[in-house]
Amino acid sequence: MIALVHGLLFDGTGAPARSADLLLEGERILAIGSAPQEVPRIDCAGLAIAPGFIDLHSHSDLQALEDRQEKRKQGVTTEVVGNCGFSPFPHEDHLKDLQEFAAPILGRGGGWGWPRASDYLAALRQSPGSVRAIPLVGHGSLRVAVAGLRQGPLSSGELSRMEGLLEEALDEGCAGFSTGLMYAPGSSAPREELERLCAAVARKGKLHSTHMRSYASGLPEAVGEQLELAQRTGCRLQISHLQAAGRGNWDRQRPALDRIEAASQQGIDVEFDIYPYQCGSTVLTQWLPQWSLEGGTAALLRRLGDETRRRLIREEMERSRAQEWSDLVVSSVAGKADAGWIGRALPDADTALDLLREADGAVNVISFNQSESNLRELLTHPLCSVVSDGFYVTGKAHPRLYGTFPELLGEIVRERRWMSLAEAIHKITARPASRLGWTDRGRLGPGQVADLTVFDPALIRSRSSYDHPEEDPEGIRLILQNGIITYDGRR
Ligand SMILES: [Zn+2]
Repeated sequence: MIALVHGLLFDGTGAPARSADLLLEGERILAIGSAPQEVPRIDCAGLAIAPGFIDLHSHSDLQALEDRQEKRKQGVTTEVVGNCGFSPFPHEDHLKDLQEFAAPILGRGGGWGWPRASDYLAALRQSPGSVRAIPLVGHGSLRVAVAGLRQGPLSSGELSRMEGLLEEALDEGCAGFSTGLMYAPGSSAPREELERLCAAVARKGKLHSTHMRSYASGLPEAVGEQLELAQRTGCRLQISHLQAAGRGNWDRQRPALDRIEAASQQGIDVEFDIYPYQCGSTVLTQWLPQWSLEGGTAALLRRLGDETRRRLIREEMERSRAQEWSDLVVSSVAGKADAGWIGRALPDADTALDLLREADGAVNVISFNQSESNLRELLTHPLCSVVSDGFYVTGKAHPRLYGTFPELLGEIVRERRWMSLAEAIHKITARPASRLGWTDRGRLGPGQVADLTVFDPALIRSRSSYDHPEEDPEGIRLILQNGIITYDGRR
């Protein structure tokens, strides 16, 4: 038995904090009240004690297998991986295709891949990783497993095979299913395919997290499509990193929220999440027309080398882009490309296409997406969980990878006062736990698993910036996972 005494307890529900002692036995919370004198104690005077933070949207699928510290140092005890349609399994006979498809987001070219969800879960169990990772199974990965990088509708045999693989992955322990409908080849899935898969997710009682078809001018329609899917299939819906990207689209956020709020009031189980930053980050190929990505990287590079096709690609890019070119800053390049581009804005479409060619298609960017008032409206919305969406790049990762949770509790809560500390903690503990259907994590109470994050509410802050992302946050004092201290930052 051990007691955390004199701390300020935030129970995760959003209720105001109270001063009390927390008594732990084994991996669980035994009681809240005052600790008996004879129990060994840790003095938490002046510190906030919260349930361990849950990152509902992460891309650390591969890094979770190593002893990476970025998430733990932010107070995260659980992260959900396998988002936006990308999971490092299953691969059937298409390992190479899976690696090509997912490498830009998972952050490593080759040397990984698991035939089944159970193989990946076994690797997680054996890994030294200090943050508990729970996977979703990605729609893009499932599709690649049955049809390689081919776009377009699947045969009925392929569709059945994919449904079977999905059910198997959910039975083996995946927390849900993710779609990434702006990433080829998953983006080419017709409605019937998604409906069939979401129906399987609903039968298993699991979560569907979606990176929708559009976050720009088509945002309200993309939300509408997902709400209809949820309504028709009955599956729980989590709209990933909701936002209206690009200055010209900022007025589309309200109509999108109107639809979500109306659906929620009608009983559809829908919520959403966002990271606490105005900029996003993804692969540069998201700005290309989908047809140019058909068949994978080699095919794209051939098209970029053909003058006529390249001109068509450039024209479509210019027509459809939501951001100004000056809003896109290169965060990572691969291949023979000049690393001097990292940290610089792309001047125009031609430069972007040249860079894609030199980098063998592998360029990541940080893009200025959202207005501050829109970000505030999202973060403070009662249906919103706060997530990192962090992923690793060779170059300069988005600071959300290193600072999301301290940024929320420091900058957003303490400095800007957009919401109370109790409310913010709720958005990174009990709320994401409830999306996953968990009842014994994400709250402080007798019988709950003792995943705990102890921090100094007056000091907590992120030190990660766009120029210098790899900086540790300040203010995290102690982390317990299953009742065991996994991080001790007390001086
Ligand atoms: Zn995404």
